[in-house]
Amino acid sequence: MSITGRCYCGACTYEVTGATFFHAQCHCRECQYISGGGPNYFMMCKAEDYRITKGTPTAFARPDLDTPVTRHFCPTCGTHLNTYPRPSMVVIKVGTLDDPADYPGPESAIYTCDLQSFHQIHEGLPQFEKLPPRG
Ligand SMILES: [Zn+2]
Ligand SMILES: [Zn+2]
Repeated sequence: MSITGRCYCGACTYEVTGATFFHAQCHCRECQYISGGGPNYFMMCKAEDYRITKGTPTAFARPDLDTPVTRHFCPTCGTHLNTYPRPSMVVIKVGTLDDPADYPGPESAIYTCDLQSFHQIHEGLPQFEKLPPRG
């Protein structure tokens, strides 16, 4: 199984060759900056299953935070391609998929602590103030 994606201009492309998991929508304030104000639809994969196949994304981590995540952006068009919450895990932004149908849809809504009045959550979707408890 292989999932591919790219930035808006096409200078950066990537491939995911393993399983994806934690399909969710994140309402956190940080995601709002990057998504356009709505929740950020994402899924995760293991870092070993993710590789950049073209281009060199720019890494950014906020220097003012104690444990910042590292985000990667296309240096040409600025598209946010992925986030590494820790070195072994990659958060894939659904908007960058070549075929958005590779995303099965969110299984939960997270960080509803930052929910805005105009955000939508499908009825029946499990909601978590922050992250779901680890099972
Ligand atoms: Zn680009
Ligand atoms: Zn978020």
